[in-house]
Amino acid sequence: MKTFKGIPVSPGVATAKALVLRGQDFFSVPKVEIRSEDIPKEIVRFEESLTKTRSDLFNVRKKIAQDLGHEHSDIFSAHLLILEDRTLIEDVLSKIKSERVSAEYAFSLVIQRYFHAFAQINDDYLKERVADIRDVGRRILLNLRGEKADSLVHLKEDIIVIAHDLSPSETATMDREHVIAFATDIGGPTSHTAIMARSMEIAAVVGLGRISKEVSNGQMVIIDGNHGIAIVGPDPQTIERYASEEKRFVELITELDKLKSLAAETLDGHKLQLTANIEFPDEIPSVIAHGAEGIGLYRTEYFYMNRTDLPSEEEQFNAYRHVAEQLVPQPVVIRTLDLGGDKFLSSLDLPREMNPFMGWRAIRFCLTRVDIFKTQLRAILRASVHGNLKLMYPMVSNLLELKKANQILEEARNELRAEHKPFDEKMEIGAMIEIPSAALTSDVLAREVDFFSIGTNDLIQYSLAVDRVNEKIAYLYEPAHPAILKLIQHTIQNAKKAKIWISVCGEMGGDPAMALLLLGFGINQLSMSSFALPKVKKAIRSVTFKQAREIAARSLEFSTGEEIKKFAEAKLKAVTPELVGD
Ligand code: PEP
Ligand code: MG
Repeated sequence: MKTFKGIPVSPGVATAKALVLRGQDFFSVPKVEIRSEDIPKEIVRFEESLTKTRSDLFNVRKKIAQDLGHEHSDIFSAHLLILEDRTLIEDVLSKIKSERVSAEYAFSLVIQRYFHAFAQINDDYLKERVADIRDVGRRILLNLRGEKADSLVHLKEDIIVIAHDLSPSETATMDREHVIAFATDIGGPTSHTAIMARSMEIAAVVGLGRISKEVSNGQMVIIDGNHGIAIVGPDPQTIERYASEEKRFVELITELDKLKSLAAETLDGHKLQLTANIEFPDEIPSVIAHGAEGIGLYRTEYFYMNRTDLPSEEEQFNAYRHVAEQLVPQPVVIRTLDLGGDKFLSSLDLPREMNPFMGWRAIRFCLTRVDIFKTQLRAILRASVHGNLKLMYPMVSNLLELKKANQILEEARNELRAEHKPFDEKMEIGAMIEIPSAALTSDVLAREVDFFSIGTNDLIQYSLAVDRVNEKIAYLYEPAHPAILKLIQHTIQNAKKAKIWISVCGEMGGDPAMALLLLGFGINQLSMSSFALPKVKKAIRSVTFKQAREIAARSLEFSTGEEIKKFAEAKLKAVTPELVGD
């Protein structure tokens, strides 16, 4: 039995035989020399494989559009474009002619050159394109060899897919009845593949290192998508333990599903608003399915990523309008561009910095690149008449920044007034509180805005001086650290004094035990990944507000994060044992 630890990207527990995808290795295609009279035949073979791949992709695109919606099928339009790439095609044809080699070999040489060239460039947009090229390349190669590309489409028994990496097209075309989980060596939680796993609601773990090398086809595996664990060749006791964990998870999901249309309300009638965080508009169906009361954080920077140009006002207006209309009358909080840290844009050739998380980023960047900022503000303002939109600024560190941002917003409003373009004059404006200086001066900042949203992900990183993406010091990244709780409590108190509402939109709000503390401190809204929402709702519906206030007050008497975490988890277990596993 061997256990692998990775990143949980989609919850659930599954036990089944492994189907290992070794993928198409472009680097080991044998060199086959051909006679010069066979060159035309080889060229025809290559062209036929392109035609076949094109028709496969059309079919896949149609199937995905029907099953999962157009947002997911658009990726195949990009794949179809790669098939039209004349440079790539001409390169292969000229290799077949000049080197007198088989189409497979010529194609593998050209594609390797592409990978090599892309690997030298540190650019998120191009990295995504490499995945697309690999995906299409794999299909072309299989068609050249007369093999079937879609080994995951028609399955006879339940299986767990294990792969080095999975392309979006492989994920999207999986037989949804029989693929009950997947695990990969590489990948992150915001990859398209991970997002699709969540919308397909199958357990998934990524970033497992070498799992694809250490599992054989047909070997038993357990995937624990709740904790990011994969177990290969489990012993009977482990299988039994996970069978009851799986049963418990299914029961819990069924139970939690019943809460969907109920309010996030304590036993003594105190209501909280539970909203969802999104990165892409295609997450909206999942937001609605999990019973969110709106969107508390729309991270718009993803809209600027994976492209070589900046989105125009019109394009942004259409996207924001679409999101607003899907949710109406529920609120959607749009966060202005939070560029920087670990989020880079391909379209802006910005210099690399020594301390990117503390550098020229987010609102600081927007206040100097007023052209980019105002384009976004105008788009949000214009979309505001189509729904219940609110706007918030990320990374505010002092009053002056907030005033300047509001001043540019007022300029955008004036421009629209002059152009007779309608917008919601009363759209609420908020500030994210994610820097200690902002939390400590929240009394002053509160005068300039209609609401606060505490970004605990960054507040923790800046307060505890722990880089949020560095796994070596991850043990120091403690949401329950007394310093964090004090900053949150202080900010909530200042919001109350100023009579503005306040939310937490960092990951901390999606942890049911921490949610009890935040409830007790008097938070008005918690915003989180939509799949975390039912659990948090269950926790809130299991306590009285009085109990939660007592739990929050007691938590401040401890000296360490470890003690507070244990205390909060014990309290959660006491009120709703179903939510606390192992
Ligand atoms: C946060 O910092 O908590 C937050 C919600 O924003 P992001 O994770 O996008 O930095
Ligand atoms: Mg943040």
